[in-house]
Amino acid sequence: MSQIFVQPEKEQAGNAETKNHQLLVQAGFVDQLMAGVYTYLPLGLRVLENIRRVIREEMNKIGGQEIHMPALHPAENWKTTGAWESVDVLFKVRSRTEKEYALGQSHEEIVVPLMKKFLKSYRNLPVAVYQIQWKFRDELRAKSGIMRGREFEMKDMYSFHETQEDFERFYQEVKQAYLRIFARFGLVAKVTEASGGGFSNKLSYEFMVLTSAGEDVIRYCEKCDFCTNLEIAKSDMTHCKKCDSPLSEGKASEVGNVFDLGTRYPEAFDVTCAGKDGKPIYPVVGCYGIGVTRAMGVIVEKLHDEKGICWPNEVAPYTVSLITLDGMLEESKEIYEHLEKNGIEVLWDDRDVSVGTKLADADLIGNPHRIIVSKKSQEKGGYEWKARNEKEAEIVKKEDVINKLK
Ligand code: ATP
Ligand code: MG
Repeated sequence: MSQIFVQPEKEQAGNAETKNHQLLVQAGFVDQLMAGVYTYLPLGLRVLENIRRVIREEMNKIGGQEIHMPALHPAENWKTTGAWESVDVLFKVRSRTEKEYALGQSHEEIVVPLMKKFLKSYRNLPVAVYQIQWKFRDELRAKSGIMRGREFEMKDMYSFHETQEDFERFYQEVKQAYLRIFARFGLVAKVTEASGGGFSNKLSYEFMVLTSAGEDVIRYCEKCDFCTNLEIAKSDMTHCKKCDSPLSEGKASEVGNVFDLGTRYPEAFDVTCAGKDGKPIYPVVGCYGIGVTRAMGVIVEKLHDEKGICWPNEVAPYTVSLITLDGMLEESKEIYEHLEKNGIEVLWDDRDVSVGTKLADADLIGNPHRIIVSKKSQEKGGYEWKARNEKEAEIVKKEDVINKLK
């Protein structure tokens, strides 16, 4: 802690309207450059890396292949689909030679021409590629902290199928993978019926987390898993269409979504491959987004108390905050090395600051476990251990510490 160049602040950021903005800035995870644009500082970057790792594991499990596409796009690709004119959030850039470019706000316009080069026959299908990458959008409002960025990170996956049935099969697999991802983030995401948006006339599914900081409104059933975005719910829809229970309404944030794009993009870019009978077919395309940086913001909105953030294990910057009191640096070093040797990530507060500051900062930063090395704890034969979510601390011997952190 004495070496991290960003130290937690005593006060909350003045211009912050949401909890995620207040706490992430105050604890030193992010810094706001301007509305909707943030620097991820050492602690914040560790959280992002954890979020990315969870997403990668689950995308790889269902056969996703990771790639990395450019953020700077030729205008032609966007003109081909009409999105150059119709997508209001598209940032347009002009070069000194008067050439026009777009900054990627999504990557259908890039991935479909890319796959045109590799999809020769139905034997190349199905295939799913994904990336984790920064997107640029000219959002009108960006007041929800990192939950709505003008530059933000997204995981976007695109799948290509020979038939609609094969797409439907994969669509279900992605939905299950998404639910696993959000559960690992400590979030309860509701699969929500929504409009296909600019993409298609069919329903899409949004993954919604109930939170007052969200910008959507959903109607959901308390008895079963039915949930619909108010955008498409008719005003007289007061009861669940699956089980007829009364619907509840609440604000929510969309952490991910899945779309059936049909053959619209392959048609626009003239992407065909040889079908089983040798005749050309358009592949059926699906696209699947997760807001990486938004998920980080939503985790903070859902998992905090009056003292600070309460990160779930999988995404916490460190597993343990180790606090040295009474100048016991040597004794702290011993347990620090023991923990590191066992593969546990430790944020060691070795600073020369007051006890109160150390305890307050540990709670603010929100690692799931706290270990205090003090005269008192050593006299009692060990270390004072406490989980971030619990009130009571207990004395734990060196040989039992690792078990407490599982
Ligand atoms: P929203 O309705 O919130 O604007 P969207 O429908 O435009 O979202 P997509 O274009 O499908 O979203 O993007 C995929 C995911 O990226 C979303 O589910 C969301 O989690 C995230 N996302 C979208 N816009 C932003 C933004 N401006 N800042 C941060 N994350 C975003
Ligand atoms: Mg949007």
